[in-house]
Amino acid sequence: MEFSKHNVLGKLKDSENYFLINFLSRQADILDSQTAEGIISGNYSQSDELVEKGYLVDPDEEMKRYRKEYLSFIENREEEEKQLFYVPSYACNFNCPYCYQSEYPDHSSKSQEEVIDAFFRYIDQEFDGKEKYITIFGGEPLLPGEGTRRNITLMLERAKQRGIGIAVVTNGYTLKEYIPLLSEGIIREIQVTLDGTAEVHDKRRPLKGGQGTFQRIVEGVDAALEADLPVNLRMVIDKTNIQELPKLARFAIDRGWTKNPLFKTQLGRNYELHYCQENANRLYDRVGMYEAVYEEVQKSPEILEFHRPAFSISRFLFDTGEMPEPLFDSCPGTKTEWAFDYSGDVFSCTATVGKPGESLGTFYPEITKKTDEIENWEDRDVLSIAKCSECSVRLACGGGCASVAKNAHDGEVLSPDCRPIKPLLEMGLSLYFKEDLVGE
Ligand code: SF4
Ligand code: SF4
Repeated sequence: MEFSKHNVLGKLKDSENYFLINFLSRQADILDSQTAEGIISGNYSQSDELVEKGYLVDPDEEMKRYRKEYLSFIENREEEEKQLFYVPSYACNFNCPYCYQSEYPDHSSKSQEEVIDAFFRYIDQEFDGKEKYITIFGGEPLLPGEGTRRNITLMLERAKQRGIGIAVVTNGYTLKEYIPLLSEGIIREIQVTLDGTAEVHDKRRPLKGGQGTFQRIVEGVDAALEADLPVNLRMVIDKTNIQELPKLARFAIDRGWTKNPLFKTQLGRNYELHYCQENANRLYDRVGMYEAVYEEVQKSPEILEFHRPAFSISRFLFDTGEMPEPLFDSCPGTKTEWAFDYSGDVFSCTATVGKPGESLGTFYPEITKKTDEIENWEDRDVLSIAKCSECSVRLACGGGCASVAKNAHDGEVLSPDCRPIKPLLEMGLSLYFKEDLVGE
């Protein structure tokens, strides 16, 4: 019997205790320091419990289990709902200094009926019989003006005829005016961004003319919730606005948003995607953002009423009492996610959509496919990325983001984008668990 390759042993932050997790056998335990130190030094007894829980394994048996879980992962993913992004324009009325799309060309014409019809013909054909929904994305998809309204109306109508739900990612400035129109469609979610309370948000997300946008976005969120439309509020964090997290949390609590079941939140890390950011040193790396959030939560626990950070699998484990299924691939691009834009191009996902050189084919004016490139994306998982194949956290990391990996490794899609799983667990398990013992 050997110590499993999928075991991860770490020390809980701000605690004397440790955790031991196995991502393949789906077990998690909190250990006292004596037990943990025994394991670290190799001085432990091969107890039945360690074997039963899959911490100690016969390597051949473990490999069989690994293969079986992989097949089941691939099979389940086939059945998963597809998220199809559609970009009607890359134009935007905001001037956010951190926008990664700011240099994308925009040649969108006013009416795109032909393109939108071609998009729906394409998805009818390519995703026939699959569960799916469409996310309208930009640029800013809800710009004022008749041309934009017409395009949104077409999208909502065509989707409704097919029973397909729509999500919208908007900066929120015109949301209030769009509520009656959106209410005509099957709206699944409206994602809006606030980067803090009024003063800080208005500096980070001003209109092109420099005017603030906070007040109108807040009215948009209120109007959406009143109209029973689900809102996903996103806050993009870097070192210059982290101090706004408790303030925005308090604002959302006072406004009654956090009590509304239609309201949820997400924290986004602002990072260099394709174009250099103006001030790269204000950005967090992945672990840095979570460290900062962890510190803020220690000081202001009410943040958890506003947002409960995932910290890898920590929140999931706490909420369900179970380990998640092993994650052989964390990048949905070309598998359960595709992106399309008004020019007729097809892309892997939101990270690549509109970026010159990233198109994987076209749906308009004719259907074309770059088969080799698509296959490369489709093949990407922790088995096909060499560095991942021996990594102990691979079934929690899943190889990370293909687009980030590609940018960092000379255009190689089959390369890793490492997630700091162990430090995230050290913080997250400490935050959500104290001295509990959990397991499947
Ligand atoms: S490439 Fe990155 S952004 Fe795109 S689907 Fe994969 S993980 Fe998401
Ligand atoms: S991307 Fe890095 S951390 Fe993630 S599984 Fe691969 S080697 Fe491990």
